[in-house]
Amino acid sequence: MFAEIELSKRISRIRVSETMRTAQSAARLKARGVDIVDLSAGEPDFPTPENIKRAAIRAIEENFTRYTAAGGTDELKEAVCQQHAKEFGTSYTTPECVICCGGKHAIFNTVQVLVDKGDEVIIPVPYWVTYADVVRYAGGIPIFIPTDEDSGFSLTASMVERHITQKTRVVIINSPCNPSGAVVDPEEFSKIYRATSQRDIWLLTDECYAHLVYDGKPFSIASLPGARRTVIVAGSVSKTYAMTGWRVGYALAPAKVASAIAVLQSQSTSNPNSIAQKAAVEALVGAQESVMEMLAEYRKRRDFVVERLRAIPGVQCREPKGAFYAYPNIRCALGRPQCEDTTQFAQRLLDEGRVAVVPGEAFGTTDHIRISFAASMKELDRGLARIHDFIGKVSV
Ligand code: PLP
Repeated sequence: MFAEIELSKRISRIRVSETMRTAQSAARLKARGVDIVDLSAGEPDFPTPENIKRAAIRAIEENFTRYTAAGGTDELKEAVCQQHAKEFGTSYTTPECVICCGGKHAIFNTVQVLVDKGDEVIIPVPYWVTYADVVRYAGGIPIFIPTDEDSGFSLTASMVERHITQKTRVVIINSPCNPSGAVVDPEEFSKIYRATSQRDIWLLTDECYAHLVYDGKPFSIASLPGARRTVIVAGSVSKTYAMTGWRVGYALAPAKVASAIAVLQSQSTSNPNSIAQKAAVEALVGAQESVMEMLAEYRKRRDFVVERLRAIPGVQCREPKGAFYAYPNIRCALGRPQCEDTTQFAQRLLDEGRVAVVPGEAFGTTDHIRISFAASMKELDRGLARIHDFIGKVSV
């Protein structure tokens, strides 16, 4: 019966997010009582900090439970602008800010209001699973730029320039990158900004992991003088404050773009959850110690995971500079019957090895898996022992 139902061409252009699909498969097995180590999740395992939870409880008690403006409250917009100014020296004002239902929503809406049929959007590889489908949904054409693993998946301005055409409308950059953990060198980022702004191409910078960097200070390309004209920041409280379920993100953009996003929201989602907006204000302006504590823990886990992966014969793993993912090269285990590619590898690792990871094909590369280290040391230890054994078994 399903086969007879014809959906719109638009929805047929996109697929379910591979990371969500993997997480659901793992959850289903777990619910059946199977002992799965889930290293697929793209979310902190920490609880939301207490001060943030209390702000939400207060919001309910004070009956802050009605619609807000579709583009979010002024209070939260001010908190976003203030925090961005404090952190990066920018000077955004509230008309240049719109609050969305998560960073993903901010990216989706930005692309919907800027990209028309046939427009090209440049996306470096490996990429976060969502970008290409969001572009396709808008009728745009994703143009992928391969990056080189040997240079740490680093992105340079000349790579971007080589892919710019008359049809290029947006360049999307995600630093630190999900899945590779690569951080774009600020000097190269500035060159990319100049290359795009000279041609009036939008630079959409996904800052969802901006605070999760292990060397040096967080960087925002929006801090460059004049950058606000062509740069759009997509941000989120999800990862930094362990608030993935609250669904609050934002875009910082020229006022015309921000207000177009608010119009789109007024006809689709309406406002992001009012209680979650109050909680996000506390996250941004309240005590920041918990962020530092979580970062210190991620750093420990990163070092542990990288060392354990490098101890597996044939596996290479670059050190992630930010975010909470390792992206090892497992080519040594591929190209065999029932283990031809990383999708088959990840499926067998789940079925036989009882570990959930995301295949690199979801991120546009052929030889990798993504391992999230937003999991406890105990789970990481168990998971890595199983991965070691499984790769030993399939590589012989
Ligand atoms: N950008 C990147 C690179 C991500 O990995 C994610 C979530 O996984 C997001 C944006 C969106 O996060 P959220 O919608 O929870 O704010």
